Amino acid sequence: MHAALPQDRFFAWPELNGGAIDIALVATHPRGTFARLPNLKLVQSMWMGVETLVDDPELPRHVPLARLIDPGMVHAMAETVLAHLLDWHRHHYYYRRMQREARWSRLEQVLPSDRTVGLLGLGELGSYAAERLLALGFNVCGWSRRPKALPGVKCTTDVDELLARSQAVVCLLPLTPQTRGILNARAFARMPRGGCVVNVARGAHLVVQDLVAALDSGQLAHAYLDVFDPEPLPPESPLWAHPGVTVTPHIAALNDPRTSIPKIVENVERVRRGEAPRHLVDFSAGY
Ligand code: NAP
Repeated sequence: MHAALPQDRFFAWPELNGGAIDIALVATHPRGTFARLPNLKLVQSMWMGVETLVDDPELPRHVPLARLIDPGMVHAMAETVLAHLLDWHRHHYYYRRMQREARWSRLEQVLPSDRTVGLLGLGELGSYAAERLLALGFNVCGWSRRPKALPGVKCTTDVDELLARSQAVVCLLPLTPQTRGILNARAFARMPRGGCVVNVARGAHLVVQDLVAALDSGQLAHAYLDVFDPEPLPPESPLWAHPGVTVTPHIAALNDPRTSIPKIVENVERVRRGEAPRHLVDFSAGY
């Protein structure tokens, strides 16, 4: 950031020189931060998800809040989604279990064109993941709040329609009051039996006991979880040892300075020129 904005001075929390600071670059901020920054012109999130900022009652609502849209993260997320989807589609989760038990057991091969992947969220991450899934030959259905049209994707605003169609459901939603707990018993019951769930959005989208029940009953074959509530996932969580769960430590898409810094700098320069920053959060929608 120093190299990209050589004329700027940088202060790191807690050494904030409040009055001089016009841009806040925020990852995980301590409460009380914004009370010390009275002259902000931009709050730039260092994450794509902004629920901790939106939920902070001290966040000044008259200051634009921008999400980080890092093209490197968008690619990384699509790779993670494809990796999990192929693991499930090619039954590798099952063959790992068979190997541990020294059992030679084959499952029937299924074609991608026989599968429908349902994407909860068709935003920056969901729409690019949809493209990559289509390229592999999967049918893709996507759910968004507002009606959408994406080539090759069955777009819907009816979540029940998506759940009924989709053997695999991938959560790429922002965490809002409307989406909290959306991966629950009702949702799993609507999916065709034997499918998989991939949660790469936020831990609080998932109701853990409902997931464990759906896995134990065979309604779901496997779950891929990257995000948890709380994080880190506590050692006593049943998810660590459940044979139907693959756990990763919130690494689905990591901020890469090579691709994120140019995007942050672009927004800083837009604000300095008096232009509106890109990727503003809509406070009324919560994301
Ligand atoms: P985005 O561009 O804001 O897209 C969000 C999508 O969700 C949009 O299609 C939106 O619909 C839809 N949506 C929101 N609320 C909805 C509702 N109530 N009903 C139906 N659809 C709804 O977000 P993004 O950049 O793709 O990121 C999504 C989330 O991924 C982030 O918020 C973050 O939590 C998570 N994430 C995780 C990682 C990781 O490493 N695990 C990394 C980055 C991001 P509209 O199109 O109608 O607005």
